[in-house]
Amino acid sequence: MAEVSSKLELRNLIKLFGEVRAVDGVNLRIASGESVVLLGPSGCGKTTTLRSVAGFIKPDGGEILLDGQKIADGNSSMPPEKRRLGMVFQNYAVWPHKSVFQNVAYGLVIAKLGREVIAQRVQRALELVKMPGLENRMPGELSGGQQQRVALARAIVTEPSMLLLDEPLSNLDAGLREEMRFELKELQERIGMTTLYVTHDQEEALVLADRIVVMNKGKIEQVDVPREIYLHPASRFVATFVGVTNLLDATVDAVDAKTGRVRAASALGEPFWASSRKDKLQTLNKGDRIAVSVRPEAIFVNGSAPSLNPKFRARVQKSAFLGNRIDLRLDLKGQEFRCQVPKFEQDLAQSHEVDVEFDSELAWVV
Ligand code: ATP
Repeated sequence: MAEVSSKLELRNLIKLFGEVRAVDGVNLRIASGESVVLLGPSGCGKTTTLRSVAGFIKPDGGEILLDGQKIADGNSSMPPEKRRLGMVFQNYAVWPHKSVFQNVAYGLVIAKLGREVIAQRVQRALELVKMPGLENRMPGELSGGQQQRVALARAIVTEPSMLLLDEPLSNLDAGLREEMRFELKELQERIGMTTLYVTHDQEEALVLADRIVVMNKGKIEQVDVPREIYLHPASRFVATFVGVTNLLDATVDAVDAKTGRVRAASALGEPFWASSRKDKLQTLNKGDRIAVSVRPEAIFVNGSAPSLNPKFRARVQKSAFLGNRIDLRLDLKGQEFRCQVPKFEQDLAQSHEVDVEFDSELAWVV
């Protein structure tokens, strides 16, 4: 079978800044039309990876291939303008003294396209970012969100091979940021452009990505679809960085290969069942040290989970009313557990004792 070539491929990409291994052996393949998000804490190497793809940073080792062609390795690097990539950055970077039209048309003017073609393409790009009719405005007369749309229109108007975005929404206020997430996703789906997107915001990543790449200290921790990243984190780091979780140190008490479950013994007393990735399960033996990630929604309070797990007694430390749910902090044998219950019940007030049960499907061995 012929191998489908990737739009972008990073092979063992390395970038050093003195002692710092900013990008430390990253391997990644992005398919044509795919939206991939690099997610991780500040300093994990996301921007350095993106800027290496853009051509602003020359790698120290490894290779970058675009459409199967090598564009950079440890020895040479194709200049950014030859890569045909569209870019959008955090700080809008629209030219303040040019009108919206001039901003968006810039790349087409440089390419010496005819007036009419330019006018058509600028109009089309502005329609795509939902800003038709604002061609003559100056950036100073636009909101932050509109300026970012101009930057986006400018990036897509040249029909780039791929779109690179570095925290493009982080300067917007919370409400607008959330709205723009969905718009960006819709735009990406409509024009089917391959995108590589950098953010430290996990919700943004979950909304925008076909696949999320979780990075930590210059390395990839996990690459998967958003659902898998959240439900089946590959490491402690991913479990705690994406979403809220309760991590519990435990040892393997038994392995059930048939159901893909592990019985975990912990300081909570009676062992409980948790699920695990099949390949990981095969490497586990009784007595091995593991951690179990128990998401708040995997904890049933004064109710029954669809599993055969034991109930533990816990004491309510704090409860916070969040409108559609109650956020509880429970003391379970000295360890704090966060969980959520759908509505306020009188007996869940502070210092009350409750029964707690883990859903064995959702408790996950990391
Ligand atoms: P952020 O979200 O804060 O931008 P990031 O994940 O994008 O973080 P990078 O900007 O890629 O991280 O930085 C990775 C590491 O490389 C950090 O330790 C950073 O301090 C270092 N670094 C980045 N650029 C340079 C530079 N030009 N000179 C020296 N060190 C750098």
